[in-house]
Amino acid sequence: MDICIDFDGTCVSHEFPAIGKDIGAIPVLQELTDKGHRLILFTMRSDRKKKKKVDGVEVVIEENFLTDAIKWFELNDIPLYGVQKNPTQRFWTSSPKAYGHLYIDDANLGCPLILDDGERPYADWKRIREILVEMNIL
Ligand SMILES: [Mg+2]
Repeated sequence: MDICIDFDGTCVSHEFPAIGKDIGAIPVLQELTDKGHRLILFTMRSDRKKKKKVDGVEVVIEENFLTDAIKWFELNDIPLYGVQKNPTQRFWTSSPKAYGHLYIDDANLGCPLILDDGERPYADWKRIREILVEMNIL
């Protein structure tokens, strides 16, 4: 199964542009890829260069927010099949939506969330794993 996965609030807590805290996604994502499922990172993060004036001098600032998320997957031994799109979809669509059979995203209707005081809600991986088992995906 091709599974599109959001990053902030889903793989880690919300701390953008920093990488958020561990919220229990890592072992479940490893289990998914060990079972042969293919993960596609589908996030609003991007890499860009922006110009900024510092003491009257124009400097170029690099923001590598997408690369930071990709590195998180690498550091945690979670292989990615695609980033922002399914590698095969270019053959049959020009749509910017990544093609997947399933989407895991803290903003999805029905995504189990943990609501800690003063924090933005984030994905509840204990419950997500239970749902994946109920759906025979894990
Ligand atoms: Mg999110």
